[in-house]
Amino acid sequence: MFTSIAGKTVIVTGASKGIGRGIAKVFGRAGANVALVSRDEGAASSAVKEITDSGAKAEWFGADVADWDSVKDMVARVAASFGHVDILCANAGIFPQKKIVDMEPSDWDHVLSTNLKSTFLCVKACIPCFEEAGQGRVVVTSSITGPITGFPGWAHYGASKSGQLGFLKTAAMELVKYNTTINAVMPGNILTEGLQDLGQSFIDTMAASIPLRRLGSVEDIGNAALFFATNEAAYITGQQIVIDGGQILPESIDAIAAID
Ligand code: NAP
Repeated sequence: MFTSIAGKTVIVTGASKGIGRGIAKVFGRAGANVALVSRDEGAASSAVKEITDSGAKAEWFGADVADWDSVKDMVARVAASFGHVDILCANAGIFPQKKIVDMEPSDWDHVLSTNLKSTFLCVKACIPCFEEAGQGRVVVTSSITGPITGFPGWAHYGASKSGQLGFLKTAAMELVKYNTTINAVMPGNILTEGLQDLGQSFIDTMAASIPLRRLGSVEDIGNAALFFATNEAAYITGQQIVIDGGQILPESIDAIAAID
């Protein structure tokens, strides 16, 4: 068994839905105090209820992760409410699709600010808390898209997800001073509310291209994030783990067909 993280405080950005909500649930189930961060309280309130109903402490904190003042204020409010901040899951992200030929510089800036600059801002804002606690943990949600694969319309998104891993390497070295590790999860196709809206035939087509023949669940990502937060993962820093059901492995469509 892994050491308990009960009583630790985790900030999960982008926790109102999708992967962030899954991470928040997994940490809540493990007994952590969960600070759920998003801009809109609407969807977040049912996520908070789901966690508090399971017996854990959870609260919503509104913030725009791309804005420094907003992030600083959010971390201060979490620390005031729970007394300490021990773990940051920098997960919030957006993935609008636009091909380069149609992409405006403002589209690029918006995606890079929300996905990449936010990672830097959230880590920076949490450093004083980790210093005070004497240790800390950061888990970044990157993606296979960018660092490993490409998808038309996601040049800006892919750049932001690769950028997070670039940030991670140096951050891992600088955070040693605060007894803090930083690692990344790299999800493949995960069954979120947004993806479900695309319909069953889309989901079936995607699943057929994955060796394990199913999309990932949000808990699949939450479980990996939880591992990085445990004491047993204390000697792992600056690393990333792909969680994709083997999606990046096949050389071609023929390789998938050859499984059967
Ligand atoms: P999602 O379902 O669309 O949820 C995004 C979350 O981020 C929401 O809670 C949203 O709440 C929040 N958010 C967006 N912009 C924000 C901002 N500026 N400030 C604060 N919160 C913000 O997304 P998802 O699919 O779960 O993706 C979550 C992360 O996983 C992203 O980093 C994404 O790149 C990564 N990922 C997802 C997949 C996948 O298959 N879904 C695959 C690989 C990687 P508000 O809009 O209310 O702020």
